[in-house]
Amino acid sequence: MKKLQILMFGAPGAGKGTQAKILSSERHIPHISTGDILREAVSKKTELGLKAKAIMEAGELVPDEIMGGIIRDVLFSDKCKPGYILDGFPRTINQANILDGILKEIDEGYPIVIELDADDELIINRLSSRRVCSECGYIVNLNSLEDPTTCPNCGAKNSFIKRKDDEEDVIKNRLNVYHQTTKPVLDFYRNKAKIISIDAALPVEEVAKKITVELN
Ligand code: AMP
Repeated sequence: MKKLQILMFGAPGAGKGTQAKILSSERHIPHISTGDILREAVSKKTELGLKAKAIMEAGELVPDEIMGGIIRDVLFSDKCKPGYILDGFPRTINQANILDGILKEIDEGYPIVIELDADDELIINRLSSRRVCSECGYIVNLNSLEDPTTCPNCGAKNSFIKRKDDEEDVIKNRLNVYHQTTKPVLDFYRNKAKIISIDAALPVEEVAKKITVELN
């Protein structure tokens, strides 16, 4: 099968991580979330984590050189040989240029861009009710759970936590950063890559189905 390189694109809370996880298990290719890599570094208090913590909590972007280094290590690793799904990178034009350079070095073509399109109101509603299970990392929306005290993935009780950057003032800043700095990255790919645009307001399973149809 042809190597599948995917770039998930969209505002925070549009569903990039959720869809990347589904696609990753269907296609057996790794889900590379730069947000998850950074959060792990923060929780382990590594040098990277110490640099990134305050930036992330404010909803700002970690510097491009740091992110470029992280993505370079991942893309050159063996686990990405069969393909990969990038979730959360690139977030700036500079990062898109860094990725171009890496792809040229590996002698790889362009990834397919999957854009999850959502308006700000949907994002604010979703992120303010988003929680993460502290036991298994499963992401939920409190409004769509029958029992908001139990993780539907691992059964843990009262295990949901809110990410610090899902507080309302930080959400607003993350959206500003998205509109000003990240959205233009889509135009960067317009004439270079196949772009699949999907309405992020649709239910998770429908978005996943549309992605499967478009990729086949
Ligand atoms: P996410 O989980 O993708 O929403 O990322 C959470 C936070 O990690 C972002 O708000 C940024 O502070 C940081 N981050 C993740 N990916 C990047 C990136 N490609 N460039 C800069 N900062 C990033």
